[in-house]
Amino acid sequence: MDCPYCSYHDSKVIDSREINDGIRRRRQCLKCGSRFTTYERLQSAGLFVIKKDERREEFNRDKLLTGIRKACEKRPLPSGAVDKIADDIEAELYRSGKLEVPSAVIGDMVMERLKSLDHIAYIRFASVYREFTDITTLKEVVDALASGESGISPPTNQLPLLSAEKLEELSKRGQKKGKTKAEQLNLK
Ligand SMILES: [Zn+2]
Repeated sequence: MDCPYCSYHDSKVIDSREINDGIRRRRQCLKCGSRFTTYERLQSAGLFVIKKDERREEFNRDKLLTGIRKACEKRPLPSGAVDKIADDIEAELYRSGKLEVPSAVIGDMVMERLKSLDHIAYIRFASVYREFTDITTLKEVVDALASGESGISPPTNQLPLLSAEKLEELSKRGQKKGKTKAEQLNLK
């Protein structure tokens, strides 16, 4: 990196330190002597999960697997079914070529697969992932499953059911199509 003060092209490293996901280097310009800092990020796996609070965390297959396993505990599933879900999702994420994926997207991918695998596991996962706070929301999901609906739309008074990312995504989509607020809320 060129010196930010005089643009000279060469500098020497006077200190380097490993930080969470990279290396921080303190440099000194060889021409003007100014000191500046550079950060080098490691891109081993190259896939980060954007959490609800906007923090980034490196994608971790074990963590994903643990979440799915919990939901599937003591369910009569074929052996390897849980691992297969994690494998499928991991492969799909890497195939997408994205560097960052919102945690909500991964959650939806799990939900989608559990739905066709085991309804009890699906509801368990949904109750944790969507943070059900009341029985009404839970009943909704169960009713939707029982009636064989393909999607679950939140009632307008239950907006927290959707994650912030999802809401933003919906409102963006809505704006593009010029939809009214009411129409946006009815989107699945
Ligand atoms: Zn300089």
